[in-house]
Amino acid sequence: MLRATPPSADAVIIGGGVMGCSILYQLAARGLPNSLLLERDVLGAGSTGRSSSAIRMHYSTPVHARMAWQSLETFRNFGEIVGGECGYVQTGQLIFGGEADAAVFRANVAMQQGVGINTGLISHEEAGDLAPGFYLADCAALAYEPLSGYADASATAFSYAARARELGARTLLRTPATGVEITQGRVTAVHTAGGRIATGRAVVATGPWSRRFLLQHGIDLPLEATRHEVIHLRRPLAALPHHPGGGDLINRIYFRPEGADLTLVGNGNMEEVVDDPEVYAQRAGPDFIGEVWSRLARRIPPLAEAEFSAGYAGLYTSTPDSHSVIDAVDGIEGLYVCTGFSGHGFKLSPMVGTLVAELVLEGQATTIDIAPLRMSRFAEGKLNNDGYGFRVMV
Ligand SMILES: Cc1cc2nc3c(=O)[nH]c(=O)nc-3n(C[C@H](O)[C@H](O)[C@H](O)COP(=O)(O)OP(=O)(O)OC[C@H]3O[C@@H](n4cnc5c(N)ncnc54)[C@H](O)[C@@H]3O)c2cc1C
Repeated sequence: MLRATPPSADAVIIGGGVMGCSILYQLAARGLPNSLLLERDVLGAGSTGRSSSAIRMHYSTPVHARMAWQSLETFRNFGEIVGGECGYVQTGQLIFGGEADAAVFRANVAMQQGVGINTGLISHEEAGDLAPGFYLADCAALAYEPLSGYADASATAFSYAARARELGARTLLRTPATGVEITQGRVTAVHTAGGRIATGRAVVATGPWSRRFLLQHGIDLPLEATRHEVIHLRRPLAALPHHPGGGDLINRIYFRPEGADLTLVGNGNMEEVVDDPEVYAQRAGPDFIGEVWSRLARRIPPLAEAEFSAGYAGLYTSTPDSHSVIDAVDGIEGLYVCTGFSGHGFKLSPMVGTLVAELVLEGQATTIDIAPLRMSRFAEGKLNNDGYGFRVMV
C-alpha cells in the first residue's frame, strides 16, 4: 500500500535511525515543528536496532570526545531533557591499554580530561578492585570512566520520535525517499512512491544505505556498509555477578553487562564489506563466536565457563577514518548529510541532533566545532587520525 505523503514540510529527514530521530526532535524543538521523517522500513531498522549501545568516553579526537561527553549528559537525564526512556545504565567503563599503545593512551586520557570528561588513569590495584576476576598483568595503562555505561538505541530513537511528534513533527514509516529534487542548486522537494513533498531542506541520515542514496545525486563519499557480529554470554553468576563495561585495546574487543546475567561482547575490526544493506548474514558465525569468546576469556577468565546465549550481526556505515560526515552539501542549498558513524555513533546521537539542527537553522554548528567531520576531508586527503592505528577507539 502506498502511503500518501503530505504536500510540504519545513524539513524532511530521510532515515529513521537514532540520528534521524534525534535530528527530527531537535528541529521540532528549535522552531521547525512542521518537519517530517521518512523511514523505508520501521524506526531503528538499520544499525540502530542492532547496536550494542555502549557509552564510553575514550576517544582519540577532541571532536568525538566532546560529542560523547555532552551526549552523556542527555543520556543521564533523558527523561528531563527529552522525555521518555533511553534505557541508560551506569556501569563504569575500564579501558585497557598495552605497551605499544601506552603513550597514545595516556595522551588521549589527558585530551579527554582537557575537554572536561570524568576519566583518569588508574593503577592495577584500583582496576582490580573495580573489576574482581579480571586479568590485568598485560596492561601497561588503564583508565576508568565512572559515569559511562550503556543505553538502548532503539528506545532512544523511539523516544526522540515520540517527543518530536508531540511537538508537531511527523514520521512516515515504510515510506522510502526515492530522491531529492534539486532545482537550480537548491533543494525543492523530496520524492517518495506516494508523492512529492515540497521542502527547502533535506537531511540524508540513511546509515548503511547512504552511499547508494547519495550517489544518485552525484555525491560520491567513501562510505562502506560493513558487517559486524556481537554475542551474548550467560555469566556464571557465582564467579562473576557483575562487571563494568570495557574497551580492550590489547584483545581488541569491547564488552559490557547486559541485563541481569549476560555479558555482551563485540569487535570493531573483524568486518566484512556488504554490497547491499538488505542482504547480509544476520546471525553470528561460529568462527567469530569462538574467537571473540576466547579474547574475552583472556581478559575475564571466569567467562571461559559462560554459556552461549545469542549472537547476531548488524551493519556499520564505515568511512576511511571512522569519523562520521556531518555537513551541508556544497553547491546544493538545503541539502545536508549525516552519516558514516561506524560502530560508535549511538553514544554521540544526542549531540548529533543538536549539531545538525544548528547547521540547518543557523548555517553552522556552534556548540562543537565539527570541521573535522566535513565532507571535503576525503578529497583534501585530510583524514582524522584515530591515534591507535586501528579502528576501535576513534
Ligand atoms: C553491531 C553494532 C554494534 C554497535 N555498537 C555500538 C556501541 O556499542 N556504541 C555506539 O555508540 N554505537 C554502536 N554502534 C553504532 C551505532 O549503532 C550507529 O552508529 C547508529 O545506530 C547509526 O544510526 P543512523 O541513524 O546513522 O543509521 P541507521 O540506524 O542505520 O538508520 C538509517 C535508517 O535509514 C533508513 N533508510 C535508508 N534508506 C532510506 C530511504 N531511501 N528512505 C527512507 N529511509 C531510509 C534505514 O531503513 C534505517 O532505518 C553499533 C552498530 C552496530 C551495527
